[in-house]
Amino acid sequence: MPLSEFGLIERYFSGLGAIREDVSLGIGDDAALVQAGGGTLALAVDTLIEDVHFPADAPPRSIGHKLLAVNLSDLAAMGAAPAWALLALTLRNVDESWLADLRDGLDGLARAHGVALVGGDTTRGGRITASVFVAGQVERPMRRDGARVGDDLWVSGIPGEAAAGLTLWQNGQRSGEAVEALVARLHWPEPRVALGRSLRGVASAAVDISDGLLADAGHLSARSAVAIRVCVECLPVSPALASVGGTAARDYALSGGDDYELLFTAPASAADQVRAAADAAATPVTRIGEVVEGPAGVAVHDTHGRRLAIPRTGYQHFSGDGE
Ligand code: ADP
Ligand code: MG
Repeated sequence: MPLSEFGLIERYFSGLGAIREDVSLGIGDDAALVQAGGGTLALAVDTLIEDVHFPADAPPRSIGHKLLAVNLSDLAAMGAAPAWALLALTLRNVDESWLADLRDGLDGLARAHGVALVGGDTTRGGRITASVFVAGQVERPMRRDGARVGDDLWVSGIPGEAAAGLTLWQNGQRSGEAVEALVARLHWPEPRVALGRSLRGVASAAVDISDGLLADAGHLSARSAVAIRVCVECLPVSPALASVGGTAARDYALSGGDDYELLFTAPASAADQVRAAADAAATPVTRIGEVVEGPAGVAVHDTHGRRLAIPRTGYQHFSGDGE
C-alpha cells in the first residue's frame, strides 16, 4: 500500500536532525515555532506547481499573489505577524512580461503585509515551480492542539467559493458577476493575517483551510484529540456560491480546497470576543459547529441532529491509504 502524504512525512521526516531546545513546535502545525532573538518566530514554506496549484493559463500577477498568500495564510493560522520571505523559483524559460507580472503580484501583497523579500534561488526546470519560505514574529501563538470540549467552531469568509471558482475556470467560464467573484477567490486569496493577529488570546486553536474544511478540521481534531461536529446549515453561503446550485455549494464548502480561510475554536463564553476580534480585523466569521466528547474525528450534522454521510475528502498529493 503506498504511503499517504501525511504518512510519508511522519515516516521519513518527523524527528529528523538534532533535538534543539529552542524549537517550541516542530512538524505538524501550520508553521513551526522557534525561539530567536528573545522572541518567537513562526516559520512556514509552501510550493505552487504549474497545473497542480495554479492553471498554466492563470494570470501571472495572480500567481505571484497566491504564492505569497498561501504562505501568509499559514502564519495567519498561528497569529504571527509576517516579516521576511525567501523565493525559490524554477522556470522553463525567461518570459520577461510574465516575470514582471509575477513580481507585481508578489510585491503588492508583500507591501500590504510589511514583508521584505530577502533571498531565494532561481533555476531552470520542466515545470514552473515556486516555493516561498516566510517567517514572522508572534507572541501567544495559536496552535492546532488547543481545542477543548465545549468550544465553538468558527470559520472566516465563505469556504467553497475558491473550489467553485476552479470548476468554473476549468470549464472555460470567465464572465458573469457570480463567475468573476468565484474565480477571483481562486486566483486572489486574501490571507487572514489581521484576523489571526486579533484572535490571539481568544481562539483556543486554529488552522488555515488549504485542503478543504473537513480535512483541515480533521487536523484540528487529531492534534487536539477531540471530536468536531460541523452543522451543515450553519455554513455561510454567498449569493455567488449559491449560484452553482443544488448541493454543489455544500460540497465545495466542505470538501473543496484553496479557501485560505481560518478555521478556529474558542470557548462558547468567548463568542462576543470572537465577534469583536473579527470586527477589529474587518473579516466576517461564522459559527459552524462545536467541539464535543469522543474520539478524534469530524462529523457533519443537520440542525435536527441527523448525521450526514459525507465522503472523507481533502486534497492530498499522495493519497496512499488515506492516512
Ligand atoms: P499546510 O497545509 O498547513 O501547509 P501541510 O499539510 O503541508 O501543512 O504539512 C503538514 C505538516 O507537515 C506541517 O507542519 C509541515 O511543516 C510538515 N511537513 C510537510 N512536508 C514536510 C517535509 N518534507 N519535511 C518536514 N516537514 C514537512
Ligand atoms: Mg496550513
